[in-house]
Formats: sequence, C-alpha cells, structure tokens
Amino acid sequence: MQYYSTNHQSPKVDFKQATINGQAPDKGLYFPEQIPPLPTGFIDNIGDYSNEEIAYQVIKPYVGDTIPETELRRIVNETVNFEIPLVKITEAIFSLELYHGPTLAFKDIGARFMSRCLGYFVKDLGKKVTVLVATSGDTGGAVANGFYDVNGVEVVILYPSGKVSSVQEKQLTTLGKNIHALEVDGTFDDCQQMVKQVFTDEALNNQLFLTSANSINVARWLPQQFYYFFAYKQWAQKNNPPVISVPSGNFGNICAGILAHFSGLPVKHFIAACNANDVVPDFMETEKYTPKKAIATISNAMDVGNPSNFIRILEIFHHQFASLKKDFSSCSISDAETKATLQKVYKEEGYLLDPHGAVGYLALQEYLKENPDEKGIVLETAHPVKFYDVVEPVIGEAVPIPPTVQQQLLLQKNSTKMAADAGLLKTFLLAM
Ligand SMILES: *Cc1c(COP(=O)(O)O)cnc(C)c1O
Repeated sequence: MQYYSTNHQSPKVDFKQATINGQAPDKGLYFPEQIPPLPTGFIDNIGDYSNEEIAYQVIKPYVGDTIPETELRRIVNETVNFEIPLVKITEAIFSLELYHGPTLAFKDIGARFMSRCLGYFVKDLGKKVTVLVATSGDTGGAVANGFYDVNGVEVVILYPSGKVSSVQEKQLTTLGKNIHALEVDGTFDDCQQMVKQVFTDEALNNQLFLTSANSINVARWLPQQFYYFFAYKQWAQKNNPPVISVPSGNFGNICAGILAHFSGLPVKHFIAACNANDVVPDFMETEKYTPKKAIATISNAMDVGNPSNFIRILEIFHHQFASLKKDFSSCSISDAETKATLQKVYKEEGYLLDPHGAVGYLALQEYLKENPDEKGIVLETAHPVKFYDVVEPVIGEAVPIPPTVQQQLLLQKNSTKMAADAGLLKTFLLAM
C-alpha cells in the first residue's frame, strides 16, 4: 500500500515511511492510495472471528510488507487486549465503551498500535526519534502510556495549562523516563500551532529526527477502524445496520469509521457530534470551511477550532458534497445541553456517560427523533471518572475512582511551563 499526500506535492510512501514522517513534507496528510475491500465473507462471518483476527485482517493491507506477519500479529494482539463491550442504554441507543484501556479513553487503541509500530521501525533506523505531540487532554496520556520506556524514542507532550482535567494531567506528567510534559500558557490550537511550526523548521529537522503522534499519523489513525468492526460484531440486528454517533474534535476517530464503512462495514449513517466548536457543523450548512479559535468546553478533548482530519473525510468522498451529506451529518451541542443529557441519562436509564459521550448521545437522540426506524451506537470515548470534576456536580454523587487512578492522583506532577512560542519549543528540543 502506498500513501499519497493530500497536498499532492510530496512523493508517495509506504506505511513505514508514513509512520516515521507523521505529516507529509508538503504539510499534507497521508492518505491510502486505495481503500482495500474486506475479504469476501468477512462481514457475514464476523461473529466467528476473534477481535485479534478482525484487527489483523483490517490492518494488514494498510501495513503491506513493512511489518512481517508474526510481528504485526503481536502488535495487534497487544493493541486490542482489553474489553470493548457494546452496552444497551435504551431500546434504540447502545454505547460502545472504548474506555477500558490503560488511560481510560479510546486513544489507547491508536497510541498502543502506533508506539509498537514505531518501536519496530526505529530498531533499524540507528537514530533516536523524538515524538512531538500536542494534546487537548486525552492524547497526551495515551501517547505517554503507549511510548513509556520504548527504546530509542523520546516523547515531548504539549498541553494547554489549566485546560485539561486533573486525571488527564497526572496521566501525562507523572511517568518520567522518556516522557517530557510541556505545560503551555495557551489553548490546544496554540500547542498544535507550535508543533506544526517546529515540524516546518528545516534546520531543526536536519539536527533532530522529529515525528508526530497526533491523529494525523497513519499508525494512530488507521487502527481506530478496529472497534467499529467490534461494534458490528456485537450488533444484533444485522439486517438493520447502526447509525453511529462519534464525539468529534480533530475528526480522526470518525474518519476511521467512515474508512471502515468504505471498505465494506455496514453503517447507516455517521454523526459527528461536536461541542461549541462548530466548524464542521457550519461547513455542513454552508459548504464553506472556516477555521475558528478553539472555545474551552467541558468536553475538552474536542476543543478544536481547525480539525486536522476533516480533509481526510473530504478525500474519502472525493470532495463531493452531495455524497458526503448523504452518509454524514454533524451538529453542535452546548455545555448546558451536555450536562442536562448526562444527568437525564443517569437518572432515567442508570447509565453514566462522560461529557464527550453525552455530546454524542444527544446528537444521536436528536437524529433518531427524525429517523424513528433506525437504531444507533454512541462511541463512549472516555471513562466518566476522567472528568469527575465535571460529572460529580452534575449528578450530585461521587464517581467511584478506580484504585489505579487514585494512586496516580497522588503522584507529583512534573511539567515544564512554557509560553505559546515555537521558538521556546525549539530551544527546549535542542537542549534535550
Ligand atoms: C480525542 C477525544 C475525542 C475526539 O476525537 P477525535 O478523533 O479528535 O475527533 C473525543 N472524546 C474523547 C474522550 C477524546 O479523548
């Protein structure tokens, strides 16, 4: 499989090179040359396959011969070795719980897969690789955990000071070793901007081997397809495929789902559920894409004003707005609506959502009102305990904190404070 850049100015590369580069040299995103169809009978017999086998079959064509089969099977098995249950909330709404991994959010899947692939690729690179990542909350912890103690890889994480939850902050500032946390005085978009600027600095890139672990990296983006298949495997009404609602920020997760659909996974419709950051809902109304400044919300992992992966969604639909509109819609949910939904679903259904899941739930519920014959799945992207600061006052109860998280909260935070200035980041990297 070859990957081209969405800007069409850089040479095509294989999976290995795309993983190492992160972003294409022309600043485009890598995109697979073909969307490989699933093997025949795969969907009809999905119930017979283990999650490990499903994941291997799905990713194999994308990886090609850059990783040998035994190694790739090991990587895949380690990536999906926790539960991903589909839980019924109402007659029409199911929750795909993606939060049973080590950092309690769906990003564990992508981060675990990518870190293991990169760990494999750097072995014969003979140089140290520095992974640079900007996080609005959950990426940092998942990447830190995935790369912790991986030989030959240093990880630098930028996060917006005061804009991540306490659990999130501890997850990315307490590991030490090869994990370095930079606490930036600014927003997530500032962090992302700093990272982007450093990547375009030619002199610096001649000195250091920099790569990104944001969801633009194909090795983080592509494995997110796995759990859409796991959801379908658990979906009872195979003759009535689900509508899938995805709490969206940088749009990597939903884009992976759409990719899975184009390779043959039955899905009725995709909903990108956004918080107040409504660039894509706006686009779906006006057909004009206008990046905005990110707004801080209680679903902070989706506080993105210029979602990087949206271009890949357009690419899948060949930039045809009419066909995009048929399969995909998007809406914006306020913080007040998010809280009301969280409370209502807890009181009436006995199911505790996190703020991101609540955004997805309401978006799905509204869609189903218009389409009463459909049923749907909301991707529950994080464990409610990750956002207990938000969730507890809303439900008026304490959220039980798992012992592993309790221990982490007691650890001393270790971060380097930094103004939102790419020059300072460069100095830091050179001094490392
Ligand atoms: C990252 C994140 C999202 C947004 O995912 P994207 O792939 O960036 O759209 C949603 N919910 C949670 C909990 C997250 O951590």
